[in-house]
Amino acid sequence: MKTQLERASRDKGTDWQALRKDFPILDQKVHGHPLVYLDNAATSQKPRVVLEALNRYYETDNANVHRGIHELSNRSTVSFEAARARTAHFLGADSSEIVFTRGTTESINLVAQAWGAKNIRAGDTILLTEMEHHSNIVPWQLLAERVGAKIRWLPVTGDEGLLDLDRLDEFLTRDVKLFSFTHISNMLGTVNPAAELCERASKLGVVTLLDAAQSAGHCPLDVREIGCDFLAFSGHKICGPTGIGVLFGRQSLLEQTPPWQGGGEMILNVGFDKTTYKQPPHRFEAGTPDISGAIVLQVALDYLDAIGRRAIFEHDQELASYAHEKLAALGGIRLFGPKKGRAPAEGGRAGIVSFLLNDVHAHDVVTFADQRGIALRGGHHCNQPLHKKLGIESSARASFYFYNTKAEVDRLIEVIRETQKFFGGARR
Ligand code: PLP
Repeated sequence: MKTQLERASRDKGTDWQALRKDFPILDQKVHGHPLVYLDNAATSQKPRVVLEALNRYYETDNANVHRGIHELSNRSTVSFEAARARTAHFLGADSSEIVFTRGTTESINLVAQAWGAKNIRAGDTILLTEMEHHSNIVPWQLLAERVGAKIRWLPVTGDEGLLDLDRLDEFLTRDVKLFSFTHISNMLGTVNPAAELCERASKLGVVTLLDAAQSAGHCPLDVREIGCDFLAFSGHKICGPTGIGVLFGRQSLLEQTPPWQGGGEMILNVGFDKTTYKQPPHRFEAGTPDISGAIVLQVALDYLDAIGRRAIFEHDQELASYAHEKLAALGGIRLFGPKKGRAPAEGGRAGIVSFLLNDVHAHDVVTFADQRGIALRGGHHCNQPLHKKLGIESSARASFYFYNTKAEVDRLIEVIRETQKFFGGARR
């Protein structure tokens, strides 16, 4: 029997509605209402092929990698390394440039603690932007405190949520050692012009790290086209399981980077007096990795590529633009992020819309929506500095993926209208 995905991609245009059948979790009621899952920026749902692959691995191949001589261990090792090659292909990189981690957070910490601690010194500058997730702030603050470096923040324009690129020259200067920035903001939905920023940085010899937590699996992503030196993403946000993440590092940089954790697997030779280490990427993978996670991530990547990442981006963007327009028309609402959705390389907005209703706390909006079966996110979304800059403590966020539909956006709008009425904050 053909899967929904095979049926859908056989057709000319993707049948987004049909793809929903691949996600068993979506077919349920929450508080008596059909589930409308709009918290994809936090984590995505998993298609049946991914769930089945996870089971199959444990039922047939489970063994530790790289160390056994027996058949199961060989099978696991071959699949694990095939997953690395597939991930490299997904990013346009080489296998030796792919390090498996627990997620975006761990990938960024690895760069900060291993590459950063060796290359960033007292007085150097680390450039971040005002729209970073805490995962791309705190590791650099820890490093800056340790070595005496400075952190500077490329400003965001305000509610429209664009990087103030007119001021880039003021911030991207020769004393910057590393420029680490998000590709897509998890609060504003802004798509930053990554290739342009990396090109400007590399002209000054500045190393770049792209936080692709919200862009991997949501739009085409090629590290050579973008020109970044490091890139981080999480498997769980793109139909894969939790616990597996990826760090891409340009070969020449990984080769100069010392290990960050010690243990089994990352060594060539251990003696009582001295230990030598493997070449990248194995040097950065101490201990037993998330074997099943990596193997199943590969299935998720195949699934996404069969749909097409450009088509996914356009679908997400269409839903977000529609939601933005309909929410704005309600009145009594403050919307964050760019108004226009444009192509990924040109900036603009992706599939994320954050908002605040006049006089209604974001937590109330999200609780009210939850009671009607809609999963939103409320809070600071791990973007506390950005919320403070915008003069707010929290916001409500709807984030879309390819299995969401226009009918679900309509349901969201209906519930937000009800919320306004219920809390009396609406423009009547
Ligand atoms: N960076 C961005 C932009 C994110 O949106 C997130 C998660 O929401 C992260 C980093 C951290 O990802 P993880 O918690 O999977 O490590």
